[in-house]
Amino acid sequence: MNKQDYKIHIIGAGISGLIAAQVLEKNGYRPIIIEASDRAGGRIKTDLVNSYQLDHGFQVLLDAYPKVKQYLNLDALEAQYFAPGAIIFKNGEKQIIGDGFRNKNLLWSTLLTNVATISDKLKILALNKSLRNTTIKDIFNKPEQTTLQYLKSKGFSDKVIEQFFKPFYSGIFLEPHLETSSRMFEFVFKMFGEGNAVLPKAGIGGVTNQLVKELKSTKILYNTKVKEVKDKVIVLENGEQLKTHFTIIATAAEHLIGNLNNQQTQWKSCDCLYFEIPEKPYKLPLIGLIADTDALINNLWLHNNLDVDSVGAQNLLSVTVVKSHNLKEDELVERVIKELKNYCKIDDAKFIKRFKIDKALPKLHDLRCDMAATETRIKPTIFLAGDYLLNASLNAAMTSGERAAEGVIAALEDGLFVEELTSEYI
Ligand SMILES: Cc1cc2nc3c(=O)[nH]c(=O)nc-3n(C[C@H](O)[C@H](O)[C@H](O)COP(=O)(O)OP(=O)(O)OC[C@H]3O[C@@H](n4cnc5c(N)ncnc54)[C@H](O)[C@@H]3O)c2cc1C
Repeated sequence: MNKQDYKIHIIGAGISGLIAAQVLEKNGYRPIIIEASDRAGGRIKTDLVNSYQLDHGFQVLLDAYPKVKQYLNLDALEAQYFAPGAIIFKNGEKQIIGDGFRNKNLLWSTLLTNVATISDKLKILALNKSLRNTTIKDIFNKPEQTTLQYLKSKGFSDKVIEQFFKPFYSGIFLEPHLETSSRMFEFVFKMFGEGNAVLPKAGIGGVTNQLVKELKSTKILYNTKVKEVKDKVIVLENGEQLKTHFTIIATAAEHLIGNLNNQQTQWKSCDCLYFEIPEKPYKLPLIGLIADTDALINNLWLHNNLDVDSVGAQNLLSVTVVKSHNLKEDELVERVIKELKNYCKIDDAKFIKRFKIDKALPKLHDLRCDMAATETRIKPTIFLAGDYLLNASLNAAMTSGERAAEGVIAALEDGLFVEELTSEYI
């Protein structure tokens, strides 16, 4: 049987599924992706609304991610670079904290800011240096504690924790208390220290478009939801059954496989609201953080502080809320508009759209950065991929997709097993 004749299905056209397809293609196979929605990308999508590029939740690429270097062409994406720092709104004032060595525009404001003490600033530099000398693998082998415990144990002041680390990392971990593992903190801190946060000029969805374009012999079936995955059969929601030699489930798999029912993935949620505003409160490409503990808003981003492919009539502002709340959409919008005015002096914000993302990031314990290809195999013909297997990042989604594809390839190269399968399918 030729490599191209094996039926290898991938469930989910998110980033992990697209990478799995790419690796299989590069090894001579022709996978078929089955995607429930009408387009690829999963959590990585951008919509065009009134000429504004609205990402499905504000997110960034970190160009130091090893898998970004391996799989993405940042030049072709016309990657736009954030300044390495943040602008902090507190008590009606704004202050900048950042890496003044890399961006001279941030040097003086960072030296002068009272968000961090001199000792905090020196500790940040020391942590940066020590994590540069620590491998990602070593970070993920360290004992875990919460990020908050970790920062306290490192001697950071309550002030810098409350006014910088909490708002900044809450926006990344999508939870307000820094309960996320210190492994994730060290990994993300290292990635920020060694590289930059970037966004494709077309928005985060540019990543998906590039990965889809890369696929030459993969077939993608859209609007096709899988109900169940059995050993050699995939059952679709519409009742149709597809024969399969191997299946990679590139999404949380507990609903698709019987005996995983007790392994429910827990999720963190967030709201991302888009507004158009006539005047920008600042022009540097910095993430804005609200450090007032009463605020519902966690962070804001002015999309056209970087170059974008498509601009609307005014300035596009995204606001991310990570605290849980029971507000209806109109109440939430009203509250956010009020906070924008009070905390950031942003007037006349006009609501465009809200993305309520219930399954934004998996809530994980015992975070990992990688796994063996063999570990992705949960049944003789079924393999798993998805960020939830490792850690909540694009790097993890890509790694898991690559490992699952390698797992399938290794299984296929195991002659005995292939013979057993082919005889059944001829
Ligand atoms: C608001 C937000 C902010 C984030 N910020 C960052 C960030 O700044 N940096 C970073 O690195 N990461 C960030 N992430 C995380 C990153 O987006 C994810 O780690 C990554 O996109 C996960 O990819 P995936 O392939 O594992 O899963 P998904 O993207 O969830 O893909 C799963 C796919 O499977 C499909 N599917 C599910 N069930 C079925 C079924 N039954 N049949 C067929 N298809 C099915 C879905 O439709 C989906 O397309 C963020 C995520 C969110 C939501």
